Amino acid sequence: NATRVAFIGLGAMGQPMAQHLVSAGFEVVGFDLSQDARQTLAKAGGHAAETMPDAMKGADYVITMLPNGRIVRDALLTDNACGGLRPNALVVDMSSSAPNDTRELGVELVARGLRLVDAPVSGGVKRAVSGTLTIMVGGSETDIEEAEPLLKVIGSQIFKTGPVGSGHAMKAINNFVSGAGVLAAIEAVVLGRSFGLEPHTIVDILNSSSGKNNATEVKMKQFILSETFGSGFALGLMAKDIRIAADLAKTLGLRLEALSSTANAWDAAQKELGPAEDHTRIIRYVMDHA
Ligand code: NAD
Repeated sequence: NATRVAFIGLGAMGQPMAQHLVSAGFEVVGFDLSQDARQTLAKAGGHAAETMPDAMKGADYVITMLPNGRIVRDALLTDNACGGLRPNALVVDMSSSAPNDTRELGVELVARGLRLVDAPVSGGVKRAVSGTLTIMVGGSETDIEEAEPLLKVIGSQIFKTGPVGSGHAMKAINNFVSGAGVLAAIEAVVLGRSFGLEPHTIVDILNSSSGKNNATEVKMKQFILSETFGSGFALGLMAKDIRIAADLAKTLGLRLEALSSTANAWDAAQKELGPAEDHTRIIRYVMDHA
């Protein structure tokens, strides 16, 4: 009897993550609103459920990889979908959700005889496909230990961050730094080009100097200067993550200037360009407002 995993959210990240679990021998029952996504999982050896409650019925674990925490909450609680899980089942939310919502959800799930750990990821679609994501996990020691056999299939670096919600706090903090880095790299190129510097030269020199970051090292040449804009990470998701970090600062009574201006810029870009565009297209917003 293989361990049964309900995998909810088979998008850019969830699909390859679910397929790694199939390859590792787990019985994976997937659900996504997209029929195409469900069929792709079925073709890869998983099972496709027609409804959310069907996916969760009798499962030992639920992994959610959905756009945000509100959708995760609805997925679990609407039509009492999580009521069909094995008693004491473990819910692993790998989406980038808001930490305070995660804490509340954790309490609600415990009241239903279930358990929650938050285990968001970093590394993008490329590392989801290679099974080498970085995973930051919040929850009790014993729950995290129980999730580890699944997490090790999906990621290569697993960090314990503290109680439920702490993984999601850490993920929002990471994406603040990542989103600020993308903006800084783009503004650097817009500024340098306007003076007469050559964009590839700017990026090369940043990468050989103290100004380098993930955007200068990877995203700038691969997706932005090449104008392919194919990172697989949507603008609306990045804007959401940085807003989570900004809201967290607010609830903790902190005034952080770079965080507020970064969150505002990504929000404005999302409104102007649309949430579905690749996040690297923010260069258009920057150029239009420079
Ligand atoms: P995506 O939009 O590609 O996938 C989300 C999937 O969820 C879609 O297939 C959609 O159909 C499905 N979905 C939405 N609402 C649903 C519902 N109510 N019921 C069932 N399915 C539903 O997004 P993604 O890029 O895979 O991101 C998923 C999560 O991972 C997000 O929280 C994101 O912030 C985070 N994340 C993304 C990346 C990346 O590089 N793409 C990296 C790290 C973390």
